[in-house]
Amino acid sequence: MTTGKSIANPAAAELSGRLRGRVLQPGEEDFALEREGFNLITEHDPDLIAVVADAADVREAVAFAAARRMPISVQATGHGPSTAADGGLLISTRRLRGVSIDPVTRTARVQGGTQWYEVIQAAAEYGLAPLSGSSPLTGVIGYTLGGGLGLMARAYGYAADKVTAIDIVTADGRAHRATADHERDLFWAVRGGKGNFGVVTALEFELVPVSRLYGGGLFFAGEATADVLHAWRHWTASLPEDMTSSLALLRLPDIERVPDFLRGRLTVHVRIAYLGSAKDGEKLLAPLRAAGPLIVDTLAEIPYTRSGEIHNDPTEPIPYNERSMMLRVLDEAAVDRLLELAGPGADCIDLTVELRQLGGAVGRAPRLPNAVDHRDAAFVLSTVSLPDDRPPLVVDGMAPWGTGRRYLNFLASPDTASLAESGYEPATYARLARIKAHVDPHNLFRFNHNIAPAPLTA
Ligand SMILES: Cc1cc2nc3c(=O)[nH]c(=O)nc-3n(C[C@H](O)[C@H](O)[C@H](O)COP(=O)(O)OP(=O)(O)OC[C@H]3O[C@@H](n4cnc5c(N)ncnc54)[C@H](O)[C@@H]3O)c2cc1C
Repeated sequence: MTTGKSIANPAAAELSGRLRGRVLQPGEEDFALEREGFNLITEHDPDLIAVVADAADVREAVAFAAARRMPISVQATGHGPSTAADGGLLISTRRLRGVSIDPVTRTARVQGGTQWYEVIQAAAEYGLAPLSGSSPLTGVIGYTLGGGLGLMARAYGYAADKVTAIDIVTADGRAHRATADHERDLFWAVRGGKGNFGVVTALEFELVPVSRLYGGGLFFAGEATADVLHAWRHWTASLPEDMTSSLALLRLPDIERVPDFLRGRLTVHVRIAYLGSAKDGEKLLAPLRAAGPLIVDTLAEIPYTRSGEIHNDPTEPIPYNERSMMLRVLDEAAVDRLLELAGPGADCIDLTVELRQLGGAVGRAPRLPNAVDHRDAAFVLSTVSLPDDRPPLVVDGMAPWGTGRRYLNFLASPDTASLAESGYEPATYARLARIKAHVDPHNLFRFNHNIAPAPLTA
């Protein structure tokens, strides 16, 4: 095996000499492993990979790239690629891990490559929880910078709404600490503006006093799709904010790693995260449980440490396209249209067609304003499909009920980088583009949902 310290390329050798971590070049044994992430649809093709060991390595790596005007891509877990890195320097944050919890201020400080399960476990020791999402394996930073729509979203808002401090290395190689009082533009932009403004080396955010949930899933046979979808729509119209739920139409392949009851058929999966008691939860859930013949019911009192079981997202890498659209309303006509597009008998190729209910705290402006929009949306629709050349029929077909905006965290396929603008209101995007022009005028951080720097005016 060649190590980063013995590489021949002079530029790589220089960078290697500046880092505690490793530098990898194409052809080296670990290069292919390091560039691979969870979503295999994207194959990054950088000139070099810097496997950073600490924040100082991030500064060195960015300064190295900046001096050469090399584009920079960032990867933690690879759950959210929006485009393939084409040349340049890939900064792999996988080994930049660590969580510390302050139980008095109820905050967490996490390093740039940390995954949610690490925070969930550390916070649980104090009866606290983060605003993590459906999969405990996604990276804290990528998830939060895109908004972060979690299992308790209606009760507590987007994860980005809880961020209190950001340590970030910008495109000039300088380290900043952005808070509500310091580097305020950067603080606003990074919370929602994704990876456009630099490499986050640490994030600090508030935790919530949650140690358990009434949660899990209800699975209905595909034949009941119309009844369950209509029942869920009715049911979501009058829910307390401590109930966050989603519904997915699953068409999973007939392969071994898929549970028997889901294989090769259409199934409806309602996912529940309720902060109230199990007794109240059962009462609330009664109309839904009666919506059709249940094939599996996993609802139970669970510790937050088991919250990944609510959606049961895949844990092994796969190639897929993910698309999304915010819906302003889900009325009867919208459900009927969705049934035509994705119900039984539809020519639907999506592995999952998911609706998550919004409203509650995600519908309100946060205490510390940020670049996460969509406060007016009532639901988010997203689809996941295996690689294919077909247009996103379900998402496009629901456009009449859409706000015209997309949720960038649910946009992952090689063609989605250019869709960044559709993730924001025009005024938000314009402000992001102005801030981008100041902190990354040459758009070094471009292999992401890219915000193009606004032209600088005199
Ligand atoms: C199974 C699954 C479940 C999901 N569930 C949810 C959910 O419930 N709610 C939700 O909101 N999203 C969810 N997502 C989407 C996920 O939050 C985004 O894809 C997110 O970008 C993943 O971040 P990552 O670091 O894990 O992935 P990566 O692919 O490693 O990173 C994605 C992007 O994030 C940016 N980034 C990552 N780390 C840094 C850093 N340290 N500094 C600067 N930029 C950085 C970069 O631009 C990078 O291109 C899910 C995705 C999957 C695949």
